[in-house]
Amino acid sequence: MPAGAVSSQMAPASAVASSGSSLLSLAGDNPYFQAGFGLLGVGAAMTLARTGSIWGATVLRRRMLVSLEIDNRDRAYDWFLGWMAHRSSSAAKSTARSAPWIRSHELSVETMIERRPNGSSSVFFQLVAGPGTHWFKYKGAWMQVKRERETRSMMGGQQTGMAVPWETVTLTTLSRDRKLFPELLAEARDLGMRGQEGNLVIHTAWGIEWRPFGKPRRKRPLQSVVLEPGMGEKIEQDIKAFLARRQWYADRGIPYRRGYLLHGPPGSGKTSFIQALAGSLSYDICLLNLSERGLADDKLNHLLSNAPERSFVLIEDVDAAFNKRAQTTADGYQSSVTFSGFLNALDGVASGEERIVFMTTNHVEQLDPALIRPGRVDFSGLIDNASPLQARTLFHRFYSGGADAEVDADELEVLAHNLQEIVEGRMKNGERVSMAALQGHFIRNQPREAVTRSLELFKCR
Ligand code: ADP
Repeated sequence: MPAGAVSSQMAPASAVASSGSSLLSLAGDNPYFQAGFGLLGVGAAMTLARTGSIWGATVLRRRMLVSLEIDNRDRAYDWFLGWMAHRSSSAAKSTARSAPWIRSHELSVETMIERRPNGSSSVFFQLVAGPGTHWFKYKGAWMQVKRERETRSMMGGQQTGMAVPWETVTLTTLSRDRKLFPELLAEARDLGMRGQEGNLVIHTAWGIEWRPFGKPRRKRPLQSVVLEPGMGEKIEQDIKAFLARRQWYADRGIPYRRGYLLHGPPGSGKTSFIQALAGSLSYDICLLNLSERGLADDKLNHLLSNAPERSFVLIEDVDAAFNKRAQTTADGYQSSVTFSGFLNALDGVASGEERIVFMTTNHVEQLDPALIRPGRVDFSGLIDNASPLQARTLFHRFYSGGADAEVDADELEVLAHNLQEIVEGRMKNGERVSMAALQGHFIRNQPREAVTRSLELFKCR
């Protein structure tokens, strides 16, 4: 046995070194000693062999394999998981020969909720590779995917109950196939972005991170939000002018930020307009809820400074978070965001970085003047209840070219005019109807009834 041979040569040498020649002869004669050294030798040889094989494997891995780690802070993380899910589902549909995917037994589910403007919603499930090891073949190369979850350290605030575990996926393949990584990532990105084209992505805060919320929604055309003539255009022009002046701001060292405040009664289209505007400019929305439990000044600051590129930060009902500054504590206000912390977060913007904040309120009169001063709010606009003209335009939007063949274009024009007069007459009495209420009324009624029954809208107010 070669291991034994090694041990019989080694044992006397070590014995000489420690105890001299008499001990050597004793050991040589004693069968127990010989067996002991023999075993020691086998052990040493095995350890050597094991170390050697680990070392060999490490060298082999280093030389022949290449790994890529993506963690869940990176956008590529979701793209990659989505890409894998897409491949596995398309592989399942295709023939076994073309299926590049080894079916995995460790799956996770990702639930996405799509909310439509009319209030209905759909739920989708996507099966993605769960924590564990998976294999797939990409362009002829085998790849190993290891998805690992670190539950001890969490991403985001635990106190908000929204903390997410750190996760990584590690892709490993042969060194010679390393060029495939960029290709694969580009494919994953394109797939991920394709799903968002023509859609509006809404992000919400998860602890201190922004994460897309639900499935991207279909963009709403800007004209579908009917505002007072000129109002929508004014806001649109303002923001476009701002976006075109990045260099102008940089040259003068002025923080590149703009704040908008849309105020007016509920259901007048403030949120709808902001979302439609974001969609028309291919911007995302970051929905910030100042009253969220666990949100403190430092987190708010971090969130505002780290909004994804090309996004509007939307703070709805800003009055609800802070009535008058002095009242904040007396009201027993829950959130730990302080008014001054909020102002600081609004003011603090790293130079060169773009920040666009939209705020909405139903009670502009309750806002602290410190909040609406220029630099924090640069544009303030009233989005009011339906004016007679808005009611007429919305009526046309609803019924023109519609399925109701009994009402032709001429009659529709007369009906629209009648509705306008009704709304005008009521307005003189100080009675108003919201655009949201008109929308609901039009959904429930045919054009003629919509006009004859329009008085109900005012009665029930
Ligand atoms: P607000 O933010 O002012 O409370 P929303 O934008 O949430 O109002 O509107 C609520 C609903 O009413 C939405 O479904 C929207 O389509 C409809 N709506 C409100 N205002 C308008 C408007 N000016 N034009 C078209 N639809 C409107």
